Amino acid sequence: MIADLVAEVRRLGPAMAERAVVYDRDASFPQENFDDLRRIGFLGLCIPQRFGGLGGDFRAYAAVSEEIGRHCGSTGLCFNMHTVTTILMNQIADDLTMDDAERSAHERRREVVMRQIVNEGLIHSQPFSEGIAGGETAGYATKAVPVDGGFRVTGKKVFASLSHAADRHNILCVTAGSEDVRFLSVPRGAEGVVISGSWDPLGMRGTISNDITFTDVFVPADNELLPPGIFNQMAERWPYFFMTLSFTYAGLCRGIMDFTRDYLKADFGAPFRRRDHPLRQVGWAELQLSYERMHALHWRVVGEAGLDPTPDQRARAWAAVATTMETAPELASKAIRICGGASMLKPKALERMYRDARCGATMLPWNVETCLMRLGRHALYDADEA
Ligand SMILES: Cc1cc2nc3c(=O)[nH]c(=O)nc-3n(C[C@H](O)[C@H](O)[C@H](O)COP(=O)(O)OP(=O)(O)OC[C@H]3O[C@@H](n4cnc5c(N)ncnc54)[C@H](O)[C@@H]3O)c2cc1C
Repeated sequence: MIADLVAEVRRLGPAMAERAVVYDRDASFPQENFDDLRRIGFLGLCIPQRFGGLGGDFRAYAAVSEEIGRHCGSTGLCFNMHTVTTILMNQIADDLTMDDAERSAHERRREVVMRQIVNEGLIHSQPFSEGIAGGETAGYATKAVPVDGGFRVTGKKVFASLSHAADRHNILCVTAGSEDVRFLSVPRGAEGVVISGSWDPLGMRGTISNDITFTDVFVPADNELLPPGIFNQMAERWPYFFMTLSFTYAGLCRGIMDFTRDYLKADFGAPFRRRDHPLRQVGWAELQLSYERMHALHWRVVGEAGLDPTPDQRARAWAAVATTMETAPELASKAIRICGGASMLKPKALERMYRDARCGATMLPWNVETCLMRLGRHALYDADEA
């Protein structure tokens, strides 16, 4: 089944890759790529079949996300922001502990959210970041004040991918007197929502990750996507949620390999092909070694993903994310050296992938620095030394 899902995306791949040039050049949202994904039902990729979705799980998502990222990095990241809400509210929420009242409220709310995605084609985003702190459940100054029938939300999110395209901005925020991070869904265009900024970044330009300010925005109680405390429980017990961004970059690595192989094999009107030089053959081999190391670790961890990982499994997940996020720019850089100068001329994909690849290391909460720091502490200190 996973192979069938990947094959569907692969069929869209060439068109996605062609449009990626325009999205990158203009810093525009990959609307046509999303329309294609919607048309084949992929907005509901990880929505259970009883709600009309395709019923894919975390592993299916990893494989599909990788295939999208192979053709267009920005589409891959945007698709991630949409899909992870559906994984969190379904597969992950089902694994976590809730009491009966929480479970039945969650069941009622998620059915509405999931059916809207499937039937109306709504797109969700996840503007979590505020640029304040790096932790999974830290750094949220956005306030939700409980009022009659819901909340009044005030705060500011940065790097809000799909800022103009999303129908729902799913934000993390806090309420006074509670340690719990709340997960609320703010409808597009709600009074008090302002999108600002002039998104003109190095790479992943199609994500359109502007700032969003929320001023006293009313959010109905039913738009709370998880019961209070469940996001914190997820961060502790299902931490693989935070590795999903890296799937796009694993796909980007594959895209760089595709480009390099095709470029070295191509007939470019000379009496030889670029592949004929032994240095380029060795160069290709070096790329493949890096790629295979990344991919083996990545899929080992995806295979382990689930509830309550052991400390070593958790550390392996940090290692996988750091490896993927660092392998992408390493491969892109080496590929340019191996292919030669003409390979990096626009609009060739390698030049764009080189810039897209550079963005992965910065993405919180599991940015590369955080993963490295945690790996060091995990290995060099005993649990009681914290
Ligand atoms: C293309 C792209 C798309 C993105 N889309 C989204 C999105 O849709 N939703 C979303 O929520 N975010 C998104 N992000 C944001 C991303 O995850 C980071 O939050 C963002 O890059 C932080 O940048 P910054 O310069 O504001 O903060 P940084 O200075 O990088 O970090 C913010 C704060 O985190 C803390 N911090 C950073 N690194 C560490 C560390 N190693 N250890 C401890 N603390 C640390 C520091 O307190 C720092 O002030 C996106 C980023 C990119 C590049």
